[in-house]
Amino acid sequence: MERLDHFMARANAAYYATHDPYRNFTTSPEISQVFGEILGLWAAVTWELMGRPNPVLLVEAGPGRGTLMADALRAIREVAKGFHAALRLHLIETSPRLQAIQAERLPAATWHDGLETLPGGPLLLVGNEFLDALPIRQFVRRGGTWTERFVEGGRFVECPARPPLPAPLPQGEGEQAATVAAPPPLAGGGRGEGAAGHTIYELNEAALAIARSLGSRLSTHPGAALFLDYGPEHSAPGDSLQAVSDGRPADPLAPPGTADLTAHVDFAAFAAAARSAGAAIHGPVPQGLFLARLGLFQRTDRLARTQPPARASALIEAARRLAEPNRMGRLFKAMALCNPACPTPPGFEG
Ligand code: SAH
Repeated sequence: MERLDHFMARANAAYYATHDPYRNFTTSPEISQVFGEILGLWAAVTWELMGRPNPVLLVEAGPGRGTLMADALRAIREVAKGFHAALRLHLIETSPRLQAIQAERLPAATWHDGLETLPGGPLLLVGNEFLDALPIRQFVRRGGTWTERFVEGGRFVECPARPPLPAPLPQGEGEQAATVAAPPPLAGGGRGEGAAGHTIYELNEAALAIARSLGSRLSTHPGAALFLDYGPEHSAPGDSLQAVSDGRPADPLAPPGTADLTAHVDFAAFAAAARSAGAAIHGPVPQGLFLARLGLFQRTDRLARTQPPARASALIEAARRLAEPNRMGRLFKAMALCNPACPTPPGFEG
């Protein structure tokens, strides 16, 4: 019997060690080169707002194939030469297989397993679909009693539990259902809460540890960290664990190494942990709004004008896919953690 977060960590490590995860899903940087380009320009403008520190760490957490950072660096080199000269590239990646792929595209980088080994000093960090891959615990509330989900032989087993703070504890039965919006429907068909008289609460301790660690670093060092991921704006109960295998929804409890597991990011809990460690929080704002404010469509149009018609319409379609509310524009959110002295970074105004 294994606690769900331990199972999820083991499953993803096994999966990433043996599979190309991109056979299963497409992420924003793989959809359009403009995504990475405008995040690179976001970092350049934020660096200006920080007073152009030199040197500055440019860090990506969970860089996948390295596409986002390769696109970002190309745009930075073109329009922000001062930032390009000042930045030192660091990548946080636990998969040796993906590290090797990243090294081909980003040979100047230094790799880390986690935040702890990053050098000190001013910092700009980006993470796209990084937090959703981190392992979650699930607690079940049935009447007045709590259990925690463990995994045994491909099935859930519940054990009596006291959910550790800061789990989103409801104040009273019924009140929760009335005041908290249901999580958005999942592609894989989440096992909904409530139907069987129980409610599921998820806790992503790895994400909260990152929020605290970055929050305390940013409380004393100049810098900003930008996360883009999927999840509701307000904490909501429900089972958001999902698995994808060969591009199709799969059983999350299938043997480790056969599917890629993710869960919704609880932005409110992440923000609260970073804020209490001393960082200023901006957002979350819907990804579509954030990217439009950063000039996604203008940059796409300008690029499309230089391309043959088929490629031009593919670029415009890709931008729409990233930004339209019923596609990736609303469920995905952008959130920034900043040093409190840093002005509001681009995309979070208003
Ligand atoms: N940002 C990329 C990849 C998203 S997939 C993109 O948008 O395409 C998640 C990435 O996070 C992968 O690179 C995976 O290997 C990495 N990852 C997952 N868990 C991690 C952990 N605990 N520490 C560091 N990297 C992790």
